[in-house]
Amino acid sequence: MKAVVKYGKGKGLVEIRDVPEPKVKDDEVLIEVKAVSVCGSDLHIYHDNHPYWPPVTLGHEFSGVLSDIGKEVKGWKAGDRIVSETRIGSCGVCFICQSGFPQACEKKRPYGIGVNGAYAKWVAGPARLLHRLPENIPFEVGAAIEPTAICVTSILERSRVQAGETVLITGPGPIGLISLAIAKMAGVRMVGITGRSSAEGIRFQKARELGADFIINVDKEDPVQKILGFTDGLGVDILIETSGGEKAISQAFEMVRRLGRVCAIGVSGKPEISIPYDRGIFKAIRFDFCFSSSWTSWERTISLISKGLLPLEKLITHKLPLEQWEEAFHLLESRQAAKVILIP
Ligand SMILES: [Zn+2]
Ligand SMILES: [Zn+2]
Repeated sequence: MKAVVKYGKGKGLVEIRDVPEPKVKDDEVLIEVKAVSVCGSDLHIYHDNHPYWPPVTLGHEFSGVLSDIGKEVKGWKAGDRIVSETRIGSCGVCFICQSGFPQACEKKRPYGIGVNGAYAKWVAGPARLLHRLPENIPFEVGAAIEPTAICVTSILERSRVQAGETVLITGPGPIGLISLAIAKMAGVRMVGITGRSSAEGIRFQKARELGADFIINVDKEDPVQKILGFTDGLGVDILIETSGGEKAISQAFEMVRRLGRVCAIGVSGKPEISIPYDRGIFKAIRFDFCFSSSWTSWERTISLISKGLLPLEKLITHKLPLEQWEEAFHLLESRQAAKVILIP
C-alpha cells in the first residue's frame, strides 16, 4: 500500500512509499483509514523539531472502520466505526500509568511518531485504544477528535475553565480555534483570540464564525493594552496559550489577572525560552503545562460533538486525497487553512 513515510532523521525526508500492509497481533485491530487530519506536529516532524522514530508512516489524527479483529479482542467487530487514541506503548505499570495518566507514560510511542500511523489505507493497533464513532459524526470530523480531546483535557480537566470566566486564546491555529469552540461551549463570559497578520485570511474568519468576542492582530495592536482595556485593568481569568511563541508566552504574564491561570498547550519548538518568572510569582499565576489527552476527554469530546455542542465541522477548510500531502502541509504552514483532512 502507499504510505507517507518519514524515512530518516533530519529536515524533510518525507515521501510516498510502497510499504507492506500491516498484520494484526492477537490484541490488535486492523483499521481501514477513512480520514486523517494534518497536525502541526506533522509539520514539526517534517522540519525535524519534534521527537520521532524513523522510518515511520505519519498520521495520528484519524478515523476509520474496523476490518480485521485480533483473536483476543472482545467487544468489537468488523464494520464498527471508530477513532483511536494514540498512546501506543504506554506501559500500564509505571507510577504515571498507575496514577491514571497513561498518556504521559515515558514508554509511549504514538501512532505516526513512534509506530506506523494513518497516512495510509490501513493501520493496525491495540483495541484498548479505540472509541466508538457515532453514526452522526462524519469521518472527516472524527479525524479532528484527537486534537480536540487534547484541548478538552487541557482546558476542562486540567485548567478547569468555568462558566462566566473571561478567556484569551493566544494563537489562531487549529488548536487555538478548537480551544475557542470549547470555551464558547463552556459558557464563558468573554473569549477572544490573538494572531498575526497572516491570520487575516481564513483563521480570523473562522474565529468570527465560532463566536469570538474580539480578535487582536498583534502585528497591528498591542495585545497587553487591549486586554487590560477589555477587563478594567484586571487581566483575563484564564489564558490559553496555543501559539508556542516566545513573545506571546511572556506577555501572558501581563494579560492574565492576579491568581489567574495560564493553560499552556502550544509547543515552542525551542530548547529554552525566557519568561518573567518573578512576575508570575508576585501575581501568583498558576501555569498549567498541558500534554496529550485522557481517556475521559475522548469520551467527552465524542459526546459533545455528537450532541452538536462542538461545531468542529466549521474548522475543516480543505479535504484532499492522501497523494496531495505536500499541498496539505503547504496550506497549513502558509496559514491558508484551519484543519486539512487527507483521504487515503
Ligand atoms: Zn496532533
Ligand atoms: Zn507507564
